[in-house]
Amino acid sequence: MPTHAPALRDAEYAPGSVGDIFRLIRSDRATSRSALARHTGLSPSTVGIRVDALQRLGLVAEDGEQESRGGRRAKRLHVSREAGWVAAIDFGANHLDIAVADLDGRFLVQTAHPAVEEQEPGAVVALMWQRVVEASAAASVEMSGLRGIAVSLPAPIEYPTGRVVFPSFMPSWHNVSLPSLFADFTDAPVLVENDANLIALAETAPAGRDHLLAVVLGMRIGSGIVTEGRLQRGFNGAAGEISHTSAGGEPAISCVCGLDDCLESVASGGAIAAKLAAAGYDVSSVSDVIRLGRTADPVVVAALREAGTRIGTVLASVVNFFNPQRVVLGGTMSASAPLVAAIRAELFNRCLPIAAHDLDVSAADDPASAGLRGAVKLALEEALAPARIDELARIEAQTTQTAQPA
Ligand SMILES: [Zn+2]
Repeated sequence: MPTHAPALRDAEYAPGSVGDIFRLIRSDRATSRSALARHTGLSPSTVGIRVDALQRLGLVAEDGEQESRGGRRAKRLHVSREAGWVAAIDFGANHLDIAVADLDGRFLVQTAHPAVEEQEPGAVVALMWQRVVEASAAASVEMSGLRGIAVSLPAPIEYPTGRVVFPSFMPSWHNVSLPSLFADFTDAPVLVENDANLIALAETAPAGRDHLLAVVLGMRIGSGIVTEGRLQRGFNGAAGEISHTSAGGEPAISCVCGLDDCLESVASGGAIAAKLAAAGYDVSSVSDVIRLGRTADPVVVAALREAGTRIGTVLASVVNFFNPQRVVLGGTMSASAPLVAAIRAELFNRCLPIAAHDLDVSAADDPASAGLRGAVKLALEEALAPARIDELARIEAQTTQTAQPA
């Protein structure tokens, strides 16, 4: 059994509840008492009761009123900077990155650490936790203010349990539940999400209606799908697992999926690195592949172009299938110009004119932090889910009542 309750972020909540009012303030949709009353249809006194509850919980602050010739300007409600913080962890074959952010999503500290030698999940989680504690100290925030953690992993993640399912990177992590392992260190909710899904989330405009496909090009290849502004995980969390689509060509590495020509085994960063190593190049990581790609060596460029063509072929099918407005490229290999050029050329060459019309294929904003930005968003969605805030308000109200003399 998972130690933590299933994700609350999609849970039902009552419109006009304390949690719903907080959602409206947090998303900037209504940031004054009068705007909240207009937006919800609640009476000003009811809005006042809800806002007071949020202030007692320390979640919301109200800027001082300003006098002007036209009369009083409304006080502005905003998420309190002292209300706590969330942590984001981006873990991959070659990195362990941490971010600490306030409840408005502003990064307070971001740290980068080299690849982790350790393989055993419990030991890796202990190391992740240690890095979060160090980052919180650097951000000068109290550990008691931690409200949630989101972890990005380059693996299929079962939804909503957060269980890792047959990861090609670190196969021994199959079935591992990171939230249960984190329970040794914290009571805060811990979410685990696929790296591509988090980049998709990072690139989605707040309250937007985006249709986008985020593709992670790293040791493996993954994708995350957003339609109508919402991340689509599919029935079990496997939506977007394009890595194991049959792509043709000679495999350079073997893959856990059982296909001998899946995209991962013929065109991933790991596959290109293996191909070049077999050809006698000094390559041990995807960063080496990027470095070699910049030397314009014809063998290296040909390997990158061939991989890009195969990736572009698969992406063209996906683009035809759901007609995104944007294809966002992230991951270490998205810095390879020959690879990205070949992906774009093949994608536009193969997809339908109606799907290609106005299609934007571009790198993620600041690809190095995209995973962390998505993880911060996810941690905030869970930690500040209206249902969770409603629960906090209920507990606070009961405590206050009990404390009143009869
Ligand atoms: Zn595969």
